[in-house]
Amino acid sequence: MPAVDGWFTLDDEPHLIGGRCADCGTYVFPPRAGACPNPECESDELVPTTLSRHGRVWSYTENRYAPPPPYKAAEPFEPYALVAVELEKEGIIVLGQAPKGILAPDLKVGMRMQLETDVLFAESNEQGETTEHMIYVWAPAVESASGPNAGVAS
Ligand SMILES: [Zn+2]
Repeated sequence: MPAVDGWFTLDDEPHLIGGRCADCGTYVFPPRAGACPNPECESDELVPTTLSRHGRVWSYTENRYAPPPPYKAAEPFEPYALVAVELEKEGIIVLGQAPKGILAPDLKVGMRMQLETDVLFAESNEQGETTEHMIYVWAPAVESASGPNAGVAS
């Protein structure tokens, strides 16, 4: 289950879910209802839409402290990189964590990234069932033309 409900899909090729203005086409993320952020637009209808799952690193930082809500950190807390990615198609900046093990030295401004999901933390209930709480992460894009998904239309 997503740690934050309704911000991304959980399929093999996850996508962020944002909003798009029905009038002027302005995108927003995270998804919300209400008025278009474009000051020149009078619309108050933002339609939920999936966003492109690729973008380029705009900025990044490394977080050595547990993040604030709505994120819940794994215990013990492990440092992680926080990446601001400019979406290829929409041009908006979306902040996200990098996958475990990818820290600032692994990142570069302008690097192509793709959206993946990662387990943020897992909890077990009294019946021994485990629920994995998922987040979206920005991972370095796989640029292979002969990868497992090459030529597969999505
Ligand atoms: Zn608008």
